[in-house]
Amino acid sequence: MGSLKVEEQIKKSDDEWKEILSKEQFIVLRQKGTEAAFTGKYYANKEKGTYLCAACGQELFSSDTKYDSGTGWPSFFKPISDDRVALKKDISNFMVRTEVVCSRCGSHLGHVFDDGPAPTGKRFCMNSISLDFKKEE
Ligand code: FE
Repeated sequence: MGSLKVEEQIKKSDDEWKEILSKEQFIVLRQKGTEAAFTGKYYANKEKGTYLCAACGQELFSSDTKYDSGTGWPSFFKPISDDRVALKKDISNFMVRTEVVCSRCGSHLGHVFDDGPAPTGKRFCMNSISLDFKKEE
């Protein structure tokens, strides 16, 4: 998986992010919050299209890789390309997990787990609120 792409990175202060994000988005995207399961707008979305970073608009996931994980969060078996996301070790909440952030703006998207379906075996477990959906025309 990719690391943060330094030359293309978007950096903003918390005050700048607060101007463009809703309060709920800020808590998840910038403070690593987690939306409650089965409450987000995309976990059951089956439309064809592309999921973008809600903070910077980078294209992250295709509906072709989305599947129903039963968790109540939108789940994908891979990003559009490995360099769209960066992975970080997360030891918060008494768990060892792998955090997934947007490679362009560093915003928190969710976590990735090793219990996903073929062909990757990965489950990118995302917060709906961290994503925007662009429906295929
Ligand atoms: Fe982003």
